[in-house]
Amino acid sequence: MSIQQRLAKLNPRQQEAVRYIDGPCLVLAGAGSGKTSVITTKIAYLVQECGMSARRIAAVTFTNKAAREMKERVGQMLKGREGHGLTVSTFHTLGLNIIRAELKALGYKPGFSLFDPEDAKVLLRDLMQKDAQVDADQINRVQNQISTWKNDLILPAQALSRAVDEDEQYCARLFEAYNRHLKAYNAVDFDDLILLPVVLLSSDVEALARWRRKIHYMLVDEYQDTNVSQYLLVKLLMGERATFTVVGDDDQSIYAWRGARPENLVTLGEDFSRLRVIKLEQNYRSTGVILRAANTLIANNPHVYEKTLWSDMGQGDPIRIVVNRHEEAEAERVASEILTRRIKESAEWRDFAVLYRGNFQARLLELKLQHYQIPYKLSGGTSFFSRNEIKDAMAYLRLLINPGDDNAFLRIVNVPRREIGPGTLEKLANYANDQATGRGVSLFAACHELGLEQILSTRAVERLGRFVHFIDGVRRRMDQNDAIAAIREMIRDMDYEAWLFQNASAPTIAERRMANVWTLIDQLEKSMEREEGEETDDVESAISRLVLRDILEQQAEEDDSDRVQLLTMHASKGLEFPHVYLMGLEEELLPHRNSIEAGTVEEERRLAYVGITRARRTLTLTLARQRKAYGELMDCTPSRFLDELPEEDLEWEGRADKEDPDRKQARGKDAIAGLRSLLG
Ligand code: ATP
Ligand code: MG
Repeated sequence: MSIQQRLAKLNPRQQEAVRYIDGPCLVLAGAGSGKTSVITTKIAYLVQECGMSARRIAAVTFTNKAAREMKERVGQMLKGREGHGLTVSTFHTLGLNIIRAELKALGYKPGFSLFDPEDAKVLLRDLMQKDAQVDADQINRVQNQISTWKNDLILPAQALSRAVDEDEQYCARLFEAYNRHLKAYNAVDFDDLILLPVVLLSSDVEALARWRRKIHYMLVDEYQDTNVSQYLLVKLLMGERATFTVVGDDDQSIYAWRGARPENLVTLGEDFSRLRVIKLEQNYRSTGVILRAANTLIANNPHVYEKTLWSDMGQGDPIRIVVNRHEEAEAERVASEILTRRIKESAEWRDFAVLYRGNFQARLLELKLQHYQIPYKLSGGTSFFSRNEIKDAMAYLRLLINPGDDNAFLRIVNVPRREIGPGTLEKLANYANDQATGRGVSLFAACHELGLEQILSTRAVERLGRFVHFIDGVRRRMDQNDAIAAIREMIRDMDYEAWLFQNASAPTIAERRMANVWTLIDQLEKSMEREEGEETDDVESAISRLVLRDILEQQAEEDDSDRVQLLTMHASKGLEFPHVYLMGLEEELLPHRNSIEAGTVEEERRLAYVGITRARRTLTLTLARQRKAYGELMDCTPSRFLDELPEEDLEWEGRADKEDPDRKQARGKDAIAGLRSLLG
C-alpha cells in the first residue's frame, strides 16, 4: 500500500495531523481514536513523502510493549532499507543511547553499569547503615525521594538548599553521597537515563548541536505520562525548530506516582506558541456499549479538556459483571469461560486478554489456565529478571564490561562457591576504600594489589587472585575473539550448572534454571546480530541494554504465538484485544487501597478507563465476595466504579440481590470517613 493510500484511510483530522510537519503538533484525543496510528503513519509519511532519512526520526513511548507494537506497525509500512537507523524506543532506551554516545562528555568511562532498583537499594543501604541501623521502609522512602528529585530535575545541591528540616537534609545528603558513589562505580541508575542527557544537553552546547543535527523530527506517544525531565529532553532536542508531534489523552494519565505530569499538555501550549492542537473524536476500536461505559466512568473525573468520543462499530453485547464467591472461583470462572468462548466465537487464544491491578492477581489465574491447558503469556511482570540465576548471570556480564562494578563483584565472587567468606570481603572492602592511603579503588582492582597480603591470609589472597585472574582471562578472550563464545565458555568453565544442581531442591528445577541462563546468552547474541549494518554495536552496549530489560521482554513479545495475554492494566496501555476480562473490581483493589487513603482515586479511575478501553468487542468485569489478604479471608466490597457505569448496559451475574446490604453499609462507612476528612 502506498503512503497516499494509507493516508486516504485516515479521517480528515488524522490526515491533518500527519501532514502538518513544519511546527509543533499536539494530538489530543480519547482512547482508540487513532493517535498511535497517526504516529506510525506519520513516520512513513516523513520518510516516503518528505524524503526524510529514517535516521533523523525518533519516536518514543513509555512501555517496552508499546514500543514494540509501534515498531511492528512501522515495519509493515517501510520497505527494505527505508527504515534503517530509525529510533522507535522507550524514553529510557533513547536516554541510554545518548549516554552511550556521550560517555566522555558526561565524564564516564567506557563500560558503565546500569544499576537496577535492587542494586541502587543495596548501595543506599550501605550508605545509610554507616550512621545507624535502618529498615527496608526507610531505605524505600529515601530511594523514592531521590527518584522524585531526579524526575523533577533537582540535583543534590538544590535538594540540600531547599531542605526545610533535618529529615530532608539527611535525605539530600544521602542523595549527594549516592550520586558520588554511582559515579565512582562508573554506574548510572534508571532515572539517570533521562536526567543525565538533560543535564548534558542543557550545559554542553556542542553536545546539544550534535543531537539536534542527529534528530530532526520527534514523535511522542502517551505524552500525558511524561515527567518533567522527559519533557525537557524533548524540548532540548527539538529547540526552536520544534518539529515534533506528541499525542496523548489526559484521561489515560496513570503514572503520576512515577512523576508523570499530565499538565505537561498545558505547558506545551505555553512553551510553544505555534502549537497546533488537533482533536480526534471517532473511536475505531470499541463497540458503542463499551465506549459508553468508558465515557460515563471518566465523566466522574474533572477535566482539563472536554473530549467527545463516538463509534460506529454498532452497540455490541452488554458488559457482563460476574460476581464470584471467592478469588479462586473468580480465576476458575475466567479460565473456563475463555475455554468455551474460544470455541463458541471461533476466536483465537490471542484474542483474549485478562487485565488486573497487581501482578499477584495472576498467580491463581495461571494455575487455572494451566489446569485447562490454555496457553498464556504473562507480561509486565519482571519474573525472568528477578530470578536468581539470571541475576547471577547478569552480574557476571556487568563485571565483564565494568570491573569497577562492586555490586556485581559482591554478588558473584562466591557464586559458584570459591570459599571466599564475608570476613575476607569485609577486609577487602576496607582495604579498597582506605582513604588514608588515598586509594578508593574498586574491589576488583584491589584484588590485584600486593598490599593485600598484609591484611589477608595467603589462602584468601590466592582465592581472590584466582577469581580475578579467571575474569581477566574471559575479558581478554572477549576482546580477542567471539565475545559471546567467551561468555559461554566462562559459564561452562566455572561449572555453574553443578552449582545449580547442588542448590536446587529438584534436578528439573536446576535444569530449568540452567536453560534460563542459556536463553539469556542467546538473547544477548541475537541482540548483537540484529544491529548489524546499523551503528556498530558491541557486546558492551548489548549488555547494557540487557540490563535495561528490553531484550528479554522483547523475546517474550516476539513470540507472537497464539496465547491468552495476562497483564496489568498499567502494562496494557495502547494495546487492544477483541475480548477483555477485567478482574478484581473491588474496593481496595480497584481503586487500590493506597489511593483511597491518599485521596488519589481519580488516577485509579483513569486506570479503569484504560482497562475498559482496551476492549474491542466484549468486556467482562469480575469480582470476588471474599479474598485472602494477610493470610485471612476478608469480605470484599464491589468497586465504586461499578456504580459509575450505565446500569442499562450491564448484565449482572451472581449478584444475590441487586442492592447488596453489605455494600450499602460499607458505602455508608466510606461516606462517613469522607465527611470526617472534610471536616478535618
Ligand atoms: P489509545 O489511546 O488506546 O492508545 P489510540 O488513540 O492510540 O488508542 P490506535 O491504537 O491508533 O488508537 O487506534 C485504535 C484502533 O483503530 C486500531 O485498531 C487502529 O488500526 C484503528 N484505526 C485508527 N484510525 C483509523 C481509521 N481512520 N479508520 C479505521 N480504523 C482506524
Ligand atoms: Mg495509542
